Amino acid sequence: MDTVLIIGAGLSGLTLAYYLQKKGITCHILEARSRLGGRIFTSYQKDAAPLEMGATWLGKKHQELNNLLAELNLEIFEQALGERAIYEPISTSPPQLVSLPPNNDPSYRIKGGTLTLINTLAEKIGQKNISLNQIVSNIYSTTNRLFVKTRTDEFQADLVVTTLPPFLLIKTIAFEPALPQNLIDITATTHTWMGDSIKVGLRYATPFWRAEDSSGTIFSNVGPIPEMYEHADADEKYFSIKGFFNGAYYSVTKAERLEMVLTQLEKYYGPQVRDFLSYEEGVWRNEPFTFAPYQQHVLPHQNNGHTIFSTPLMNGKFYLAGSETANQYPGYMEGAVRSAQRVAKQIIENYFHSVS
Ligand SMILES: Cc1cc2nc3c(=O)[nH]c(=O)nc-3n(C[C@H](O)[C@H](O)[C@H](O)COP(=O)(O)OP(=O)(O)OC[C@H]3O[C@@H](n4cnc5c(N)ncnc54)[C@H](O)[C@@H]3O)c2cc1C
Repeated sequence: MDTVLIIGAGLSGLTLAYYLQKKGITCHILEARSRLGGRIFTSYQKDAAPLEMGATWLGKKHQELNNLLAELNLEIFEQALGERAIYEPISTSPPQLVSLPPNNDPSYRIKGGTLTLINTLAEKIGQKNISLNQIVSNIYSTTNRLFVKTRTDEFQADLVVTTLPPFLLIKTIAFEPALPQNLIDITATTHTWMGDSIKVGLRYATPFWRAEDSSGTIFSNVGPIPEMYEHADADEKYFSIKGFFNGAYYSVTKAERLEMVLTQLEKYYGPQVRDFLSYEEGVWRNEPFTFAPYQQHVLPHQNNGHTIFSTPLMNGKFYLAGSETANQYPGYMEGAVRSAQRVAKQIIENYFHSVS
């Protein structure tokens, strides 16, 4: 039996396990997917630019994430924006090239891909402490212990931490005894950041968008790609462009989305856009371990960082972590790290208090 059972091997779960293990507290992670990282997913191909289909950018203001990266000796590099962007204000006017102001607060990417952070944490934690393909369905408590049922196994622990986006938690996991009604009510309207987004990326042999008077930076009010950026690897050896795609198109086929991507890019760069090496997409709304449909309209970031998420439940044995529960930068990688720090602190205080 493990002292702490953590549900979810995304950034929150892995960071939490890393912090707890550093304090000598044993823990085990149960992950539903067959891969690590949750909303962090970097697509790798041999001799090609890593393509981020999930979390990509961080800023200097994301102090705890920056501290964690420095502690793990992981490097960051600046996101290239170029001096000019292609701007498409309205469907009845042609796209324009606009000058970008100097960027005083640049965004950064993690060298080698965001998944490098996930893999480094997993290596520190140890593969034996992480179980993949474990879809948690029930959590119930007895007097001193919590039981966690997955579709295939049952686990028990002194303490359990969920790192699921809160809305997904109440939609997909059954509790005995039931969670407090006020928590259920708030969680029912808690947005899962980027849970309904689509990302698209294309790898190319050459960065043709860097040509004179052009740019890989695109802003379009016409769409279906509203934003796109150059996405070369840190050493600028391999090239790609990557952007967001209108989330409403989650139900069409991959081939249909690709054709829409190419049609839009062709307007700016001509037929060379069709000479891509590979096309990748992340349709997060179709990912059952990230997204569940809301029963009512929920605004972006609604209830993210609500104070109710910070209170332990089930007599101090059950904790809510996960980016959306952080009181600063909820929804972002920084929020994931901060939520892990908060729960680690709560557990360490609880643990050392109870064993001393
Ligand atoms: C397209 C996209 C772009 C983004 N861009 C950025 C960005 O540029 N910068 C930024 O800071 N953030 C960005 N984010 C947000 C960032 O990805 C998240 O804040 C962060 O990864 C959340 O980590 P987490 O561990 O809290 O949650 P998650 O990554 O959602 O992890 C939860 C884990 O729980 C698992 N799970 C779910 N259900 C179960 C179950 N029943 N049993 C067991 N396990 C389960 C999931 O598989 C998952 O691994 C982006 C997200 C997306 C989707």
